[in-house]
Amino acid sequence: MSNLHDQPQPPSWPLPDEAVEAALRRAFADGSWGKYHGPNCLELSARLAVLHGCEHVVLTCSGTAAVELALHGLNVGTDDEVILSAYDFEGNFKNVLTVGAKPVLVDVDARSGQLDVSQLEAARSPRTKAIIVSHLHGGVVVMPDVRMFADQHGIAVIEDACQMPGATVQGRVAGTWGDVGVLSFGGSKLLTAGRGGALVTRDSGIAQRIRVHTQRGNDAYPLSELQAAVLVPQLDRLAERNQLRTENVSRLLALLSDVAGLRCFVEAAGSGDPRRAQSRETLPGFYKLGFWFDAVALGCSRDDFAGSMRSKGIALDPGFRALHRTHARGRFRAVNDLPNATRADESILVLHHPVLLGTAEELRAVRDAIRS
Ligand SMILES: *Cc1c(COP(=O)(O)O)cnc(C)c1O
Repeated sequence: MSNLHDQPQPPSWPLPDEAVEAALRRAFADGSWGKYHGPNCLELSARLAVLHGCEHVVLTCSGTAAVELALHGLNVGTDDEVILSAYDFEGNFKNVLTVGAKPVLVDVDARSGQLDVSQLEAARSPRTKAIIVSHLHGGVVVMPDVRMFADQHGIAVIEDACQMPGATVQGRVAGTWGDVGVLSFGGSKLLTAGRGGALVTRDSGIAQRIRVHTQRGNDAYPLSELQAAVLVPQLDRLAERNQLRTENVSRLLALLSDVAGLRCFVEAAGSGDPRRAQSRETLPGFYKLGFWFDAVALGCSRDDFAGSMRSKGIALDPGFRALHRTHARGRFRAVNDLPNATRADESILVLHHPVLLGTAEELRAVRDAIRS
């Protein structure tokens, strides 16, 4: 297929999937596609509970709504502060404002691009109620340290696992280091229903407060039976696909090893080989594969480089805008001027995941596009 300009296109998402098609037929045959309640949300909740070893699962209309609900579940409100990375998903910052609290931004690690746990202490105040921690672009935050810090000071943790459902982070399933874990089923995500999300927690008090907030005679943040129907078969394949993506990241990084000017988050995390990270009980998820872009080494600007990749059918795009650069100073607190997050704002590139389920030939095409 060609578009107007006859440009090659990156692989599309979601992939055709016979199991999803069968689930859609079942939802049609049993009428659950048009009902408020049916077997599909129950099954999805049960499956997510088992996957995470968490008794309580709340399905939601999006990952963004799930983060908002997590804040409610933790009783975060006016006069409270919530610490998060200055390089994070925009919605996380907006959600803190939505519940009336103040975002406190901390810098990212210069190598891994993830929230710098050593900055948490400086960001803490008597008002700190929660920390939002996101694993981004194939990197993982050092959760045992976050957990220890939070427990020491009686601060709650919201672990945003939207980019790595089913991943293993330092020996635990992503999302379960937090008092609450958050997943997204948005249209570009590894598990997709076009829209949707979920919260997982072991804490019945948190789950109860979230349910009180959502139940207003009806569920105000619902995930539909039809969405749940297509997610269940994707869960069946999640572990296998996470494994394949991880192997292909290794292959791709080997192919790119002689490219100066692109430094991968995963290499930066220490091993250069994400399969070796597995032996340290971490098997990351790859919604995006993050790189630090070096304009000098590559001889062009990041935007020009990304534009050129797009024209070759490679979905390698600029990452997030850093939150301190896109929001008025009065909206947040920060303990320093966040130099690494500024660099992240200017120089992160992210490779979109569908190519990571591709063939060896497709991976070589990525390498060839980058090197030409
Ligand atoms: C996608 C994403 C979300 C939430 O996404 P929704 O589109 O609202 O489901 C939250 N955090 C991160 C890090 C994400 O990547």
